[in-house]
Amino acid sequence: MGDIIDGKAVAATVTAEVARRVEGIVAQGVRPGLAVVVVGDHEPSRIYVRHKMRGCERVGIRSAVHALPASVTQEEVLAVVERLNADPEVHGILVQLPLPPGLGTRTILHAIDPHKDVDGFHPVNMGQVATGRPPLAPCTPKGVMRLLREYEVPIRGAHAVVVGRSRVVGRPMAALLLAADATVTICHRHTDDTAAHTARADILVVAVGVPELVRGSWVREGAVVIDVGISRSSSGRLVGDVCFAEVQPRARLITPVPGGVGPMTIAMLLENTCVLAERLRGLPPWPPLGSPA
Ligand code: NAD
Repeated sequence: MGDIIDGKAVAATVTAEVARRVEGIVAQGVRPGLAVVVVGDHEPSRIYVRHKMRGCERVGIRSAVHALPASVTQEEVLAVVERLNADPEVHGILVQLPLPPGLGTRTILHAIDPHKDVDGFHPVNMGQVATGRPPLAPCTPKGVMRLLREYEVPIRGAHAVVVGRSRVVGRPMAALLLAADATVTICHRHTDDTAAHTARADILVVAVGVPELVRGSWVREGAVVIDVGISRSSSGRLVGDVCFAEVQPRARLITPVPGGVGPMTIAMLLENTCVLAERLRGLPPWPPLGSPA
């Protein structure tokens, strides 16, 4: 029976680190600042944003929400982004996705100053991730890497299978695993027989958004299974992309939903805000260069 990876506990450790880091940055005369742009009334987005703001408050990051109505034009959103790009008190800018139809997600994300792109979705930062030397990686895959590190999962030479190839999770996840010397397979909606690939994984990361897609028979005995998915079942329960009841007996380690990857995403957002504040202000990075990022 696989052990459960406690994402809440690791996120608490990261959050405590970030709080100390914020103190260090404040001592040098800068308070890290995060600006969140949220458009429309998408209920899950409102909830995520509330969690993010609460996280900032806990560690001493100054945060502000810029809530715009769904009727806003793309030019108006771009004007807000431009204003935040120019604001010296803002070190990180996040545009909460999804945006309402009619707004160009790509155009808006690309308008964020790459030096303030706290989610790491700007093509300049995506390119850094793809070339294997990211100064800053997207929060969710970065959080997964931290979980693997905390649980001392060997990555070099391991076969990692990533199911899902979104710009937000799957692609950067595969790039980070590759940079850590895993042999990486990526599966997506057009992959023929995904189960045959997942069954060969030492490390399986699933980010698909299909409740309980991955069954017990899809997983090798002793694999490490990371479930990024979050969906609601018909009964209103939160479920992941992995059928936990079937997979846990086969896995060596497995993340639960909730309480696995989710808390790490917010913790990494706080960490990324500090990284950006340090870089923008020319402060010495913390932890010092050379320690595992
Ligand atoms: P997405 O819809 O952008 O991408 C889904 C990917 O899954 C696509 O690449 C698609 O090709 C692939 N896919 C779809 N059906 C498939 C199938 N049957 N077999 C193989 N591949 C398939 O989704 P996303 O933004 O990457 O999010 C994925 C899931 O992760 C969602 O449930 C989302 O809510 C969740 N998520 C969680 C966090 C977190 O913090 N825990 C963060 C981001 C996303």
